Amino acid sequence: MALKALDIYKLLPKKNCKECGDPTCLTFAMKLAQGKVEPDLCPYLDEEAKNILGASTRPPIQKVTVGMGTLSFTVGEEFVFYRHEKTFYHQPGIMYSVSDTESDDRIREVVSQVRGCRLTRIGIDLVLNGLAVYAESRSPERFAAAITVVTQDNPDLPLVLMASDPAVMEAGLAICGNYLPLIRGVNDQNCEAFCTLAKKYGAPLVVSGNDPEQLAANASRCTGLGITQLMLDLSGTEGEFIRASTLVRQAALARSVPGLGYPVFLDVRSSGFSGLITGITKFASVIVTRPLTRTEMQAALVMRQNIYTDPQKPIQMTPGLYRVGSPGRDDPVFLTVNFSLTYFTLQGYLESTRRSCWLLIVDTEGMSVLTAVAAGKLSESVVKDAIEKSGLASEVNHKTIIIPGYASPLSGRIEEYTGWKVIVGPRDAAEIASFIEEELK
Ligand code: SF4
Repeated sequence: MALKALDIYKLLPKKNCKECGDPTCLTFAMKLAQGKVEPDLCPYLDEEAKNILGASTRPPIQKVTVGMGTLSFTVGEEFVFYRHEKTFYHQPGIMYSVSDTESDDRIREVVSQVRGCRLTRIGIDLVLNGLAVYAESRSPERFAAAITVVTQDNPDLPLVLMASDPAVMEAGLAICGNYLPLIRGVNDQNCEAFCTLAKKYGAPLVVSGNDPEQLAANASRCTGLGITQLMLDLSGTEGEFIRASTLVRQAALARSVPGLGYPVFLDVRSSGFSGLITGITKFASVIVTRPLTRTEMQAALVMRQNIYTDPQKPIQMTPGLYRVGSPGRDDPVFLTVNFSLTYFTLQGYLESTRRSCWLLIVDTEGMSVLTAVAAGKLSESVVKDAIEKSGLASEVNHKTIIIPGYASPLSGRIEEYTGWKVIVGPRDAAEIASFIEEELK
């Protein structure tokens, strides 16, 4: 079980010497409990305390990286069962599947679907993560040929290699093994051969089993053979997956079964889109799916983004001066906060008016207008700072800014402090069109 801050504090030397970078042992203990620092930062810990703290503060789910280079992605290192308890850290990798029996042209088409997929939502690019190549032919030559087609122009695209014959798997690894693909296909008979391959290439391995107990035993067998980068295969019907995934996450967080402290792999080629969505919502870390329609793909990426954003941190825009349309020096300047949803809502309504304008985004630590005003995060000094840092005065011929209706109590102070004339805009962005029509003719 994870230790609480006070339990950790009891194990610390209590010198309050600040050498760990924290002012007191208690604040260090609190950070340890939150997983924000490593025990090694305290030079005075004895070996026993180090061992206890190391085991307690280590993430209960092993970190696993798939691929190498800029497209690689990391999964695992999760700490909670429910997102609202803290956050989920590593979103699942979504991989489109191809069979090595498909034509080279079809394989290229799926590769380009993966590489070409990019959905920008609230300022964040959402992408697919890679490709799973399935050795349906059972032929080492054909499997190697299919992987060659995939990697020809995309050597760094993260891959899952799916084959149960070690000879076929080795033929695939000979092509792309240096890029650390995820290997799936290990079973009771081929376990040693697959572990040898995983070790040789340093590649992560997907372990399977009929139930969580057998899965844990097989994972322990692999770790006994020197493999630490493991994932647990929970593919099955949706009902079976939900049950198994729930049990595995509970056991991993309780640290009660060491063989279950690994991220989850899920193949939903047979269960389709609903299986994919279930996997995203119920702890799967790598999901292999058939290529999706555009609508399905967008829905899956948005669902994943919604679940894997930190509920304690509002999504923020970078403060600064933004253009809507092609504004000139006489066009109006609207001011708003850097809470992403506020920005994108206002931007959408402004674009729909077809009136070019400037948008000055001020740093309110991601708070909405009403909250920022109440919390003192939107103030005359914050506005002055934003005007100066953005170089607004050199972009326009006037000195007028339009502030949100909810910031109206600040209008006088902003005018006084910044020297800019303030017009109070509407409270609701939906009224921006009529405001422009009536006030900015
Ligand atoms: S270095 Fe160790 S003893 Fe010193 S304040 Fe930090 S935790 Fe306490």
